[in-house]
Amino acid sequence: MASLRLAIQKSGRLSEKSLDIIAECGIHFSNSSKRLVAKCSNFPLEILYLRDDDIPGYVADGVADIGIVGENVLIEKEKQVSVVKKLGFSKCRLSLAIPRGEKYHGVSDMEGKYIATSYPNILKQYFKEHGVKADVHEISGSVEIAPAINLADAICDIVSTGSTLIGNGLKEVEVVMRSEAILFSTSNLEAEKQAILDQLIFRIESVNKARKNKYIVLNAPERSVDTILQILPGMKSPTVTPLAEDNWYSVSSVIAEDQFWEIIEQLKAAGAEGILVMPIEKMIL
Ligand code: ATP
Ligand code: ZN
Repeated sequence: MASLRLAIQKSGRLSEKSLDIIAECGIHFSNSSKRLVAKCSNFPLEILYLRDDDIPGYVADGVADIGIVGENVLIEKEKQVSVVKKLGFSKCRLSLAIPRGEKYHGVSDMEGKYIATSYPNILKQYFKEHGVKADVHEISGSVEIAPAINLADAICDIVSTGSTLIGNGLKEVEVVMRSEAILFSTSNLEAEKQAILDQLIFRIESVNKARKNKYIVLNAPERSVDTILQILPGMKSPTVTPLAEDNWYSVSSVIAEDQFWEIIEQLKAAGAEGILVMPIEKMIL
């Protein structure tokens, strides 16, 4: 039977969350950092542990069938692959930064400037779109120290909080792209492997939906039930069950994490008591 080969980052900022998502899909594997390949025991999947920069190339060449990297790396490598889905973790941005003391008026300030980055293709494309002719140079590590040692006038690098920039006397002036972890595949996956990938996507979507929702159970007197049902959106409609005590009901439903506190306040005001909120492990609609 065919098995799908998934390439993930061996050690770095994407590794843990990539493995978490596979584990939450109920897939078992041995996670030894010394290994290059791990076979999953209960799903036709093999995990290849690689440097993130190499993953788009290996997937394009068919050495691996699917991969997880940051969109920044995927776009930079300019390989022919198919995007499967964004995964919602390792969110960051690729930004232009200049020495803190310098004035900034707009991208045209970069005209003729010497700019250091690990993402030359993305940056050149950005300048092309903005009609700016800048001198883009690729350097592989510690990009943020380049201006301080007079190696560059500006840099373009990954930013999440901005504290690294500040620590190096720089300020962020332009967001070149936003990025998050992305699942992608070889462009011509054979049918049998595509079927395995479809199962995997189904599981990932169930896990992601569950992460965004909570299960809620509460008690309410009969007179509050109608108001409470209007507050609770639910998947279909909330479940209402009579309690042993006369004129009291138990109501259960699913609510979105981002509306959570707002809804709880409204429920309390409407007369709900004994509110229980529970995480959902999987959500299959
Ligand atoms: P490798 O040794 O595998 O080449 P790396 O040093 O290139 O690793 P990491 O620093 O582990 O890469 O980052 C991997 C990816 O995580 C980046 O390409 C980016 O998409 C994302 N990332 C980087 N920095 C951050 C951050 N501070 N916050 C969130 N995501 C980030
Ligand atoms: Zn890398």
